Amino acid sequence: MTYRALQIEKDDTGYRCTLKTLDDSALPEGDVTVAVDYSTVNYKDGLAITGKSPVVRKFPLTPGIDLAGTVTASQHPLFKAGDAVVLNGWGVGESHSGGLAQKARLKGDWLIHRPGAFSARQAMAIGTAGYTAMLCVMALEKHGVTPEQGEVLVTGAGGGVGSVAIALLAKLGYRVVASTGRLQEAGYLRSLGAADVIDRAELSAPGKPLAKERWAGVVDTVGSHTLANACASTKYGGTVAACGLAQGMDLPATVAPFILRGVTLAGIDSVMAPRALREAAWARLARDLEVGKLDAMTREVGLADAIGLGAQILAGQVRGRVVVDVNR
Ligand code: NDP
Repeated sequence: MTYRALQIEKDDTGYRCTLKTLDDSALPEGDVTVAVDYSTVNYKDGLAITGKSPVVRKFPLTPGIDLAGTVTASQHPLFKAGDAVVLNGWGVGESHSGGLAQKARLKGDWLIHRPGAFSARQAMAIGTAGYTAMLCVMALEKHGVTPEQGEVLVTGAGGGVGSVAIALLAKLGYRVVASTGRLQEAGYLRSLGAADVIDRAELSAPGKPLAKERWAGVVDTVGSHTLANACASTKYGGTVAACGLAQGMDLPATVAPFILRGVTLAGIDSVMAPRALREAAWARLARDLEVGKLDAMTREVGLADAIGLGAQILAGQVRGRVVVDVNR
């Protein structure tokens, strides 16, 4: 038996990602085998496909940190053949072959049952990006940020995490300000629920330790000076959820917002998040994400197209979310 998969190889001739037909014996170890229906291209998949950052730690490897599909064989007590499942993270697509393939073999401990509210395609339209956006919103809630307290800033607004965060926050009644480098996408961002759209240049240059208090909360997907400036302009007692590094991994900030304004910097990690938190986030997505908005922010490609999208997502050229139909 064979299956089609993207495969990353690294050797003396270089680093490359190609579409291959593999024998089932190429599947890694695991107690659950899944027939994949859809995967997606996240920022980290872009890093893996291009090799721009060393996220892939084993070769050859199939990329894809997300997948949605149907269990075909299982030795895990929680899953049986026929179950609809979703996988996000756990190092899959980095050190264990991932979702950009027609088949995957995984640890059942990494899987969750797909929420009934979503088709496999919709689950991948959400993907790690959307699930991370939900984790960010839940962190703001946990730290007491409410719609009455004022505006919430979303940076990297035109990307996957940003687009889902806008839709979620707007549905929950927050006044969302979207920061983007693509002002031509203001109409798109407003259609997702942004009340206001600002140029990311307002936040991306070196700033002062403290600025005028504006945000009750922030969802930051870009890091670097943007995150520093977001903290500096967060209101007394507000919370900043930091999940990304699209501008940079650095954080050229001072402690002033934390010690003078009681600002909370909440770190968000989707990859190793425990099962209970994942299931809670997916249950909240089923409740709070409008499927019409999800469909509007999503386009679909075939498996081979995912290769070119790797470079495009790193260049900030992908709007919203991309699902990959691995069977076309
Ligand atoms: P996308 O590429 O879809 O979105 C990133 C957005 O950031 C771009 O669309 C662009 O938005 C903006 N951006 C890009 N380059 C720059 C730059 N140089 N300066 C400022 N803004 C920039 O990626 P995702 O939404 O999938 O992921 C966003 C970030 O979150 C990534 O860094 C990713 O690694 C991280 N992430 C972290 C997770 C975690 O577990 N912590 C999980 C998922 C993602 P615009 O054009 O609107 O300005």
